[in-house]
Amino acid sequence: MEKPYDYLIVGAGLFGAVCAHELRKSGHKCLVIDKRMHAGGNLYCENVNGIQVHKYGAHIFHTNDLAIWNYVNQLVPFRHYNHSVMANYKGKLFNLPFNMNTFYQLWQLKTPEEVIGRIAEQRTAAKITDPANLEEQAISMVGADMYHTLIKGYTEKQWGRFAKELPASIIKRLPLRFTYDNSYFSDRYQGIPAGGYNKLIDALLADVEVRLNIDYLDNKDAWQEMAETIIFTGPIDAWFNYCYGRLEYRSLSFEQEILPVSNFQGCAVMNYTDSEVPYTRIIEHKHFEGGQQPFSVITYEYPQAMARNAEPYYPVNDSRNNNLYTKYKQAAAQQANVIFGGRLAEYKYYDMDQIIGSALSKMKKLKAGLSNLQV
Ligand code: FAD
Ligand code: UDP
Repeated sequence: MEKPYDYLIVGAGLFGAVCAHELRKSGHKCLVIDKRMHAGGNLYCENVNGIQVHKYGAHIFHTNDLAIWNYVNQLVPFRHYNHSVMANYKGKLFNLPFNMNTFYQLWQLKTPEEVIGRIAEQRTAAKITDPANLEEQAISMVGADMYHTLIKGYTEKQWGRFAKELPASIIKRLPLRFTYDNSYFSDRYQGIPAGGYNKLIDALLADVEVRLNIDYLDNKDAWQEMAETIIFTGPIDAWFNYCYGRLEYRSLSFEQEILPVSNFQGCAVMNYTDSEVPYTRIIEHKHFEGGQQPFSVITYEYPQAMARNAEPYYPVNDSRNNNLYTKYKQAAAQQANVIFGGRLAEYKYYDMDQIIGSALSKMKKLKAGLSNLQV
């Protein structure tokens, strides 16, 4: 019997929404389901008295890929926003990411040569030649003083484990510059959809059937009958009923406040880097869009262990979890008529531009009739 849809897309996050958009354009009948009460996944914004509140943490679109920048801009207008972060260590403020301003604030050194020399001295004193973990990588990059001020406390509360036990790759995400440039991202194109990310998701899902508040895994057999092919963007271990064990994730909780002040902290994101403050950052949402309201909405972001029913936000890509993921990936390759994609199904820290790139590439291969589309 013919199934009612060509594709069932599980997850209305960015990956699922781009797939739905592309498949609809090529005339396929898609149904998108999501277990949350809204589409957009972690990009979802809530309008609080005219301020777009990033409900799942601050999201800044940044890319070096002109094709991806054009792709999102032809869907919705973007507002230019150049992200730069302040760090608060025991009441003292520093610019992030690590640049000459940060080194001046820490050491009062003024030239790149002096700073590079000081970092080399501290790396030598720590006897690091080949950094094997996040702590060693951080000390090699910025020296031990900076590590103890801006990295160790933040990292250990963010990940709930010692920096020595974390992969070096996590800290390599942050730019390190020996110029006085406070831009958090080095990418050529940066911005935020005017009016918030829901506009982007709405444009991607225009004319696509979306059903919310549905967990695919609660009724897998029935949903499988709905479409010829399934695109699954949920956690890959959940798809396989955790048969090899659970992949580890770090979760977050958010506490929101409306304040009767027009400008609370003067920037969108203030990191709190010492271990005594329980949250990692405070987001003041109006700064993403230059809001002029007489009040402000802020969110405290608290890292959390991954309890049952918590949202999985960050994959913990250490070797144990990566090895476990390889087993799931091999099992995924054996599944007929299922395409796995996105941050949870690929167990990978993907930025939004990478998610779009990955979804477009998979949809292109699908249209070309290629079969090897698994994670
Ligand atoms: P998700 O957004 O997680 O979407 C997956 C969807 O699947 C969810 O809606 C979920 O409810 C649904 N789902 C899962 N299982 C099921 C099921 N069984 N049944 C039905 N539905 C299901 N990227 C940037 O480029 N810039 C940033 O500044 C940035 N900041 C970030 C800040 C934080 C705190 C986090 C966590 C991420 C950030 N990212 C950022 C990354 C960005 O959020 C991701 O690239 C993007 O959201 C991934 O989209 P996705 O569709 O793969 O996953
Ligand atoms: N980090 C840190 N101090 C900071 C900001 C970041 O030590 O003030 C480290 C931390 O380990 C974090 C990683 O750098 O997990 C990557 O930071 P990023 O800002 O990319 O984190 P995300 O926005 O992905 O949570």
